[in-house]
Amino acid sequence: MEIIRNSNVLDTSSFDLNQFISQVETEAHKLWANSPRRVINATGVVLHTNLGRAPLSNQALQSIENASGSYSDLEFDLDSGIRGSRQTGINGLLSLVTGAEAALVVNNGSAAVMLGLATLAKNKEVIVSRGEAVEIGGGFRIPEVLAQSGAKLVEIGTTNRTYATEYEGAIGGETGAILKVHSSNFRITGFTHSASLTELSHLGRWKSIPVLHDLGSGCLLETTQFGLIKEPTVQESVSSGCDLTFFSGDKLLGGPQAGIIVGKQHLIEQLSKHPLARALRIDKLSLAALTATILHYLRNEATDQIPVWKMISQPESVIRERASQLQSKIPHYSSIIEGGSPIGGGSLPGETLPTWLLAIDGNAEKVSSLLRQGNPPIITRIENGKVVVDLRTVTGTEEPILEKSLLSVLKENQS
Ligand SMILES: *Cc1c(COP(=O)(O)O)cnc(C)c1O
Repeated sequence: MEIIRNSNVLDTSSFDLNQFISQVETEAHKLWANSPRRVINATGVVLHTNLGRAPLSNQALQSIENASGSYSDLEFDLDSGIRGSRQTGINGLLSLVTGAEAALVVNNGSAAVMLGLATLAKNKEVIVSRGEAVEIGGGFRIPEVLAQSGAKLVEIGTTNRTYATEYEGAIGGETGAILKVHSSNFRITGFTHSASLTELSHLGRWKSIPVLHDLGSGCLLETTQFGLIKEPTVQESVSSGCDLTFFSGDKLLGGPQAGIIVGKQHLIEQLSKHPLARALRIDKLSLAALTATILHYLRNEATDQIPVWKMISQPESVIRERASQLQSKIPHYSSIIEGGSPIGGGSLPGETLPTWLLAIDGNAEKVSSLLRQGNPPIITRIENGKVVVDLRTVTGTEEPILEKSLLSVLKENQS
């Protein structure tokens, strides 16, 4: 409508039919385009929250199709023919893979923490170390989440040092829980101390106070095997003896958006009966994808099948070879340089994997903007005034598309 109003249709002297048609086409394309659009992530940031975090495995996609293209047994028990729970299948798998007694899945990581606190600590006190009363990003701030769930924050210790004895000293008649928060996206170094989860779990059991662990990323594999520093795993959190562990489905787990809670059976039961559990419940598409993702871990094929682990475990030498291949197509406009791929997604702050970058000559702002306008759009990073392409996060099938787009942009940039 806008176009018709803006074009001076009645003024026949200035009316250009071809221009009008092309305007209508452009507007229609924008209006009818699917959203969110597919993009090629050439930033090398494996878990880019702005780019939708973890891409899904083929089986996860297949699983979504099976669960949604027709009716499914989402909440139907095929043996008895009566109503079942959408949680049954996934919860069994999560217990198997993490070693926990029980599990519950909700909409996202924030919802998981919120449900845990609202169920166990409403109108009660929750003890948190001052160094962990933090903002995780995108509106998730521990003091505010606590306030929203009706719990009272009791901060103890100092920003850099908190001891188990300080938790003990803060426990009183009003205490509902002890909460430990993983510092997902920042690191405090130097003169620091924090109470270990094992210490807190002992304390909690002794005083009959639930110990909750907001782990954030939900890593199930040992990151050190890929040359990264250690990211605490879910299995370690569970075996420390804490009562509940909360994590996301779409960070290092490599699955869909989801919030996962694993831990003690009697607490999981309490959480699942809370009215918020229904409000925060996981949808069937995410549930289908999460189940397929967890099955990759149980089949021991995570690094072959789950895209984020394929990217993380890709050897530097392979990336270098791929970058050289690409560079040989545009030898006069680019060079290969050493760099680092950040992991992102609120995990392993400041850590990068060694990589090889294709650095593109020319005006960086202009080149990156032209690449973003491609179809599909290509998202790059600018480093030291140059556009750089990191093939770690570009799949083999995306490579020819990237190459074509680069060639056309460089041509356009020349003229
Ligand atoms: C990412 C994160 C959350 C929030 O999880 P979402 O899935 O993004 O809602 C909560 N706590 C920690 C420690 C996190 O790292």
